[in-house]
Amino acid sequence: MKMAHLICTKCEKEFPIDRVHPRCPGCNEPLEVVYPRLKKGKIRSRGTLIERYHAFFPFSSIHEGISLGEGNTPLLQSSVVASELGVNKLFFKNETQNPTWSFKDRGTVAGLEHALSLGFKKIGTVSTGNMAVSVAAYGARAKVDTYVLVSAGLPEEKIGPIAIYHPRLIMVGGDYGELYFKSLEIGERFGIYFISSDVPFRVEGSKTIAFEICEQMSFEPPDYAVVPVSAGGNVRGILKGFEEFYRVGLIDRIPKMVVGQASGCSPVTNAFEKGSESIERVVDPHTVAHAIENPFPPSGNQVLRKLKENGGTAVKASDEEILEAQALMAKEGIFGQPAAAVPLAAVKKLLADGYLKQTDSVVCIVTGGGLKYTAALTHHPFKVEKTGL
Ligand SMILES: [Zn+2]
Repeated sequence: MKMAHLICTKCEKEFPIDRVHPRCPGCNEPLEVVYPRLKKGKIRSRGTLIERYHAFFPFSSIHEGISLGEGNTPLLQSSVVASELGVNKLFFKNETQNPTWSFKDRGTVAGLEHALSLGFKKIGTVSTGNMAVSVAAYGARAKVDTYVLVSAGLPEEKIGPIAIYHPRLIMVGGDYGELYFKSLEIGERFGIYFISSDVPFRVEGSKTIAFEICEQMSFEPPDYAVVPVSAGGNVRGILKGFEEFYRVGLIDRIPKMVVGQASGCSPVTNAFEKGSESIERVVDPHTVAHAIENPFPPSGNQVLRKLKENGGTAVKASDEEILEAQALMAKEGIFGQPAAAVPLAAVKKLLADGYLKQTDSVVCIVTGGGLKYTAALTHHPFKVEKTGL
């Protein structure tokens, strides 16, 4: 490992980089990788994600044959939606084009690299959706034993897309909030490296979204980056990416972050609106944007701390607004899952209330593909014409 260590995001206590437990034993807040000697390193134009940004990762060597070609996703400048909303510079960072159709692949490959560098032969995760699929796929590719903890009663249609990669599926009792903490104990007991929600190396993977945006915009970053927030690791990673490029002088300002949540499950936005420093668990969460239905995000408090420092904001959108944004984004040729349409719903609201101006440049992070949740299509009626042309 190169010169880097972990730090508690709250009390700033330091931990060695080879620590696997992702939280501070004192305050139970997430840990994060810091690079005391970060310098402007060479960014390779080709290679895998970890190879391209090797200077911004702590790995001294890189394992070959574990990449599935993650990252390097398109940044599309909107024409259709931008003119409909009346904003000059609107972009979509299309993460649906990752190997398992979501941004999760970036954090999975970074976590896997860390696990292998520490000598782990087993990886795992706790998830029903994008993250489980991603970890199962990368586990297969790397030929390591892969454990996916699923809660009892999970429907078969959710297990199928994970099971296709042949991981070990372990049924455990309790809701997902409980499973997350249970996985930390199981991991320590059985030597499994869990690459779950907001672990430090998932955040390290997510920062490459910001790196790519900077490169794709010729190192003139946008005014705003809008991110759907569930556990909170992705928005932390994207902001960290901008901060690191700023620190080494590759960009001269840091975009403001906009947290997008669904009204039926918005613990971060609720706390932000109240000016509170800590999130409260949402009781009975319910939204069409299942991928971000996390009632008690493990990085929620850290997202609040960073948002305050960054000067960004937090928004929530109703299911109706999310589905409307999903349909609007498809007018541009992009089919995202409902959670991935939350940023566009947020942009629409922020333009309407004057927070965003017509001249602002805005990047929406389209986190995952629409085909992963075809049930949402029932909300989009269509008509087939009977007569020929
Ligand atoms: Zn701490």
